[in-house]
Amino acid sequence: MRITVQKYGGTSLSTPELRNRVTEIIRSTREQGSQVVVVVSAIGRLGEPYATDTLLHLVKAVNPEPATRELDMIMSCGEIISGVLLASHLSAHNLPARFFNGQQAGIYTDGQFGNAHILTVKPENIIDCLNNNIIPIIAGFQGIGQNGEIVTLGRGGSDTTASALGAALKAEVIDIFTDVEGVMTADPRIVSNARLLDSITYNEVCQLAREGAKVVHPRAVEIAMHCGIPLRIKSTLSDSMGTLITNNGYGISDQVNSIMERMITGITYTSNIAQIRINIAALQDKKGVELKIFKSLAQENISVDFITLQPDLLLFTVMADTALRAQAILNTMSLPAELVMNCAKVAVVGAAMTGIPGVMAQVMEALNEQDIPILQCGDSYTNIWCLVDQEHMQNAVKALHDKFELGKK
Ligand code: ADP
Ligand code: MG
Repeated sequence: MRITVQKYGGTSLSTPELRNRVTEIIRSTREQGSQVVVVVSAIGRLGEPYATDTLLHLVKAVNPEPATRELDMIMSCGEIISGVLLASHLSAHNLPARFFNGQQAGIYTDGQFGNAHILTVKPENIIDCLNNNIIPIIAGFQGIGQNGEIVTLGRGGSDTTASALGAALKAEVIDIFTDVEGVMTADPRIVSNARLLDSITYNEVCQLAREGAKVVHPRAVEIAMHCGIPLRIKSTLSDSMGTLITNNGYGISDQVNSIMERMITGITYTSNIAQIRINIAALQDKKGVELKIFKSLAQENISVDFITLQPDLLLFTVMADTALRAQAILNTMSLPAELVMNCAKVAVVGAAMTGIPGVMAQVMEALNEQDIPILQCGDSYTNIWCLVDQEHMQNAVKALHDKFELGKK
């Protein structure tokens, strides 16, 4: 039995026209001889009635810090609504379909509220459907913990549901349908000449996704890579092929048995970051202070990133929504923690940039030409990142995209 998993994102199901379009895609895939397993996200974005963020606001209006258990309960409702709607729509159009929530679909997780990891998938109900020629529609982004609690998989988690199901069902391909043409050299909402990458390796797209390109969840890519299942990112609205993600890279001839990866794949960004600066030089007792800082923040579940440690100065970042809490903890330890709010990280990502001289110089040049101050900077084998003020983020992304001529083929 050939199986295609198709995941439809929040904007792909929001209007009757779009649901008709989705119906035709599913019908045509079946006519080409493949069974279809569908995963859905919640409909729409903040402000729209059944979007995940709208549901979150509803409960946060009565309690700013609701229990994580209750948060997961309400956040799991959006996918149930969109899934029931799509199953009913398909059934009304002569395509018998049945909806399953995460538990009914057999998505078993580690039970971590808000960021659960899928441990195993037991897809009996889904296989049963396929054997009876019924299209299974599965709520993405949710599963159950060992104690039976409903949990969610973190933002973008519907992609992960699709990959996990693809792996469990040995799917031929996993299609992620969204509101852009595919994986591009930068977010097309920011960079108008961003170019579609028609073919890309799992590794390259994983780097992009980890550095902030939210077009696909990195965990979904890892699962597909592990199982060797091709992943395609496509637009719901167009017939174009989108981006094919495999292990083969691009421009590779049949004779060459190696993976070709680009020097620079794309430019990414992450907003809502705060930088914390601690002047170690001014402290009376410096011994072990870094350890104390990171231990106390970890105890309070605050995750830190981009650590730059010098004998006299400690810099690191936290997500903006934990910044004030982090500062308060540091102040109780009598540490002078200076907070720089409204930062964003921009990154130049490329799996094959390592060892190529001059990439860092080009990054500096691009930002200098735009008079964008760099608050902090770092690099790894696969990326160079700079922390900038949020107000410079879009310009920084555009400047880097231009500097590396990513808009040109
Ligand atoms: P969905 O609801 O379909 O999962 P998402 O909003 O999670 O959609 O992901 C799609 C969005 O990802 C696009 O609308 C686009 O703005 C954004 N995006 C960020 N970086 C990229 C990139 N490099 N290529 C394509 N899209 C990107
Ligand atoms: Mg998404």
